[in-house]
Amino acid sequence: MTTKSVEAIFNPPAPHMVGDGFRVHNFIPSMPELSMERMSPFIMMDYNSRISFPPREHPRGVGVHPHRGFETVTIAYKGKVAHHDSTGNSGVIGEGDVQWMTAASGVLHKEYHEQEFSRNGGEFQMVQLWVNLPAKDKMSAPKYQAIENAAMGKYLLDDSSSFIEVIAGQYKDIKGPASTFTPVHMMNAKLKAGSKAEFSFPTHYNTVVLTIEGHAKVNGHELKTDHLALMKHDGEHFEIEAVTDTIVLVLSGEPINEPIAAYGPFVMNSRQELVQAYEDLSKGKFGELEE
Ligand code: MN
Repeated sequence: MTTKSVEAIFNPPAPHMVGDGFRVHNFIPSMPELSMERMSPFIMMDYNSRISFPPREHPRGVGVHPHRGFETVTIAYKGKVAHHDSTGNSGVIGEGDVQWMTAASGVLHKEYHEQEFSRNGGEFQMVQLWVNLPAKDKMSAPKYQAIENAAMGKYLLDDSSSFIEVIAGQYKDIKGPASTFTPVHMMNAKLKAGSKAEFSFPTHYNTVVLTIEGHAKVNGHELKTDHLALMKHDGEHFEIEAVTDTIVLVLSGEPINEPIAAYGPFVMNSRQELVQAYEDLSKGKFGELEE
């Protein structure tokens, strides 16, 4: 078995606010080594590292905005977020849950702190990913998957208090509940200090590892809290070891080798399709959603 080695380890880039509710480090695509092409199908990664929000009656968040051409995946580690979109789907996700929204041909949505969480305030920590769609699926119908923590596949490791929680794809014989358009593996390694987990993904898959909590080692390389490791295309196999109790997000996906044309909230294959997206938005083809 060949080793998938660490290509680079990144500190979290300086954070910025998305609306007034999300304080995020954008790893993908703003870091030059983590372009949409290099990381496909993961074309955006905003990481809201742990932060405490003071109580507020009116929930913080991001107002109504469109998306077309990809999926948004929100993984909640701390806090609660509420979502509403123009297809009528809505939901609240809390600690350990995932919201997987397929924007595809287009939706309007808004994302806010859940009302009661906002009132009480508290710790907030989330990852939002954009997962690209192949050209043939970009204009398919929008859909929404609410994935509660209890529905996730869990692979228990030897010490049995450590486990891999599978959101999408597969870890050994355990499958994740999310349905995906292209092969995507998405999982949390929740490991107690001293325990180890082995991972194996095809050599050409784009693979990253993000430390959400605690301190880990990837193939022996230190990975502190909030740091991201980019894996090389040189083999299949790597190992994560928990130095302290840790939560590590592991992503690996088959690249979609098609042209990428991205602007703002739209990710298509050509400039013409971006122009069309703005035209469709102005004609109201993304539906309606109240602020
Ligand atoms: Mn959005």
